[in-house]
Amino acid sequence: MSKDLNHDADCLFCKIINGEIPSNKVYEDDLCYAFRDIDPQAPTHILVVPRTHVASCAEITGDNAALVGHIFTVIARIAAREKLADGWRVVSNVGADAGQTVPHLHFHILGGKRLSDRMG
Ligand code: 5GP
Ligand code: ZN
Repeated sequence: MSKDLNHDADCLFCKIINGEIPSNKVYEDDLCYAFRDIDPQAPTHILVVPRTHVASCAEITGDNAALVGHIFTVIARIAAREKLADGWRVVSNVGADAGQTVPHLHFHILGGKRLSDRMG
């Protein structure tokens, strides 16, 4: 599994991972970092990001697929720890039409309420 820690000095989430910008940490390991969203859209709203700078799901390739797989194991563990037994949603916005505002790959974990029936 790649531990290449590629950083972008101008990237908000790279700064959060580095500790340059404070965040409410939920989980961390060598490969990823999870923290609470500053503007939560559900009672539980957590962002899970790779430590290495990847722009979005559009940049997932064979080279970083194991990293993404690892992140999904972390997502499942966080959802269990947050007691989202009634259900939850994982979302990753890609590009302008999806409303991606931070160009560093991130997965939203949303739960703790009945979520919207519509996704698009
Ligand atoms: P996107 O819109 O790119 O899918 O998601 C970006 C998310 O990052 C948004 O839900 C937004 O509230 C969150 N966010 C933006 N700036 C910060 C910040 O400085 N700290 C934290 N914790 N979340 C942030
Ligand atoms: Zn970044």
